[in-house]
Amino acid sequence: MFAFEKVELPVLGLRGLEADLSEEERAIQENVHRFARDVMRPIGKKLDAMSPEEVIAEGSPLHDYMAQMYASGILDLGALDSMSDLEKSRIFPIIFEELGWGDSGLAIATLASAIPAFTAHTTGDPEIIERFGSLPGCWLATQPDKGSEVVDMDASNVHPGGQQNKGNIGVRKEGNEYVINGQSSAWVSYGPLAQTAMAYLPCDYGEGTFKEGTQGLNWVGVLIPLDQPGVSRGKPLDKIGQRPLPQGEIFFDNVRIPEKFAIATGEKAIGQMMATLTFANMEMAATFTGVARAAFEHALEYVHERKQGGTAIINHQSVQTRIFSLWQKVEAARALSHRVFSYNYSAHGPHLLASVTSKTFVTDTTFQVASDALQLFGGNGLTKEYPMEKLMRDARAAMIEDGENTILGLKGVTWLSCWYQDKAGISV
Ligand SMILES: Cc1cc2nc3c(=O)[nH]c(=O)nc-3n(C[C@H](O)[C@H](O)[C@H](O)COP(=O)(O)OP(=O)(O)OC[C@H]3O[C@@H](n4cnc5c(N)ncnc54)[C@H](O)[C@@H]3O)c2cc1C
Repeated sequence: MFAFEKVELPVLGLRGLEADLSEEERAIQENVHRFARDVMRPIGKKLDAMSPEEVIAEGSPLHDYMAQMYASGILDLGALDSMSDLEKSRIFPIIFEELGWGDSGLAIATLASAIPAFTAHTTGDPEIIERFGSLPGCWLATQPDKGSEVVDMDASNVHPGGQQNKGNIGVRKEGNEYVINGQSSAWVSYGPLAQTAMAYLPCDYGEGTFKEGTQGLNWVGVLIPLDQPGVSRGKPLDKIGQRPLPQGEIFFDNVRIPEKFAIATGEKAIGQMMATLTFANMEMAATFTGVARAAFEHALEYVHERKQGGTAIINHQSVQTRIFSLWQKVEAARALSHRVFSYNYSAHGPHLLASVTSKTFVTDTTFQVASDALQLFGGNGLTKEYPMEKLMRDARAAMIEDGENTILGLKGVTWLSCWYQDKAGISV
């Protein structure tokens, strides 16, 4: 039992019911929080109001943000990588939540643009690290005719009798080179500015693109320098949420890259793609917990300022219950996100089942929180003068980003069913 000598106010941290941060964790959290408040929020607000062309133009505040982010050392890949798994499982969600709290579009721009460099470091190959290890890049997987199918790379959700689309990029193995032709989707994050790409693409190794005896394709995971002859870009994409995150098509016209830049082929490429998605989905959950928290905090402040019915609206009971429901949802989202970091960095993890569980729940919850928090602002919530409509637009995009939530759920249930059948010794 607990024994209280005196009933006191709760002690809450930046992330609500925060119990046990070490001194180092708290220092990192405060540092990232300051950066999120002083750099990300003002720049994110400016970029949100700009056209996609202005966002990527020379002199745009986006470049200023990226320079400040690199200089801050917040995402020092070397330092983060040298941490133990336990340390990573605790510090990553803290960092990602603060970045999301600052501005989710900028947070994703930072993280997505680091994927090729991060992948290059994991190869341990000095030549690959030298070529790709420090340049801003992008993660190129979806194509106009291949959206959810990319998330379903192992083809477990293909309709009976159907087959996956071939896609719009053809990769051909020719001698000791890969030749790339076609285009990505318009959704490639940081695509308009990326200097490299980590691409997962259907590949013809000499026997066609379709994988013999399956409904799926042969794949390759390749690092592509985007300064090669034959690479061009489309118009930057105009969209409703995460507008500070530039996105756009990348075109390939007979782009030749050495065999060495293929970091995974065949089944290994599927595994690598799933590994990237496993990290990205886990990261999305922490980032969008930050968005939910931002919406909750704005609402809590507003209901203490706005007066209607002769009093601050927090004094109305229906407002109180709505505020409490927002609080509960943010805490529940964070708890699940943390649990998945712990699992993925434990001896049992990582697994995509864990990551889709938190990504889908947190991003759906964040949209609900942002929408319900906006409601508490009344008409003001709909205007650009207040932060709520931006948070709601940003949260909405997250339900499709890194895999549309329904498809991610289908991937999750496939794993659950396989696990059950294995345990029960049955096959249905
Ligand atoms: C903000 C943002 C950032 C992104 N960043 C990147 C990036 O960096 N790199 C990249 O390559 N891509 C990126 N994407 C693309 C993203 O991965 C795709 O948008 C997503 O996978 C969905 O694909 P789609 O848009 O083609 O939708 P579709 O696949 O066309 O889906 C349309 C609808 O059909 C349903 N559906 C499709 N297939 C099935 C099925 N088998 N069973 C049941 N229902 C199905 C879906 O659930 C969905 O509701 C990004 C997207 C967004 C929104």
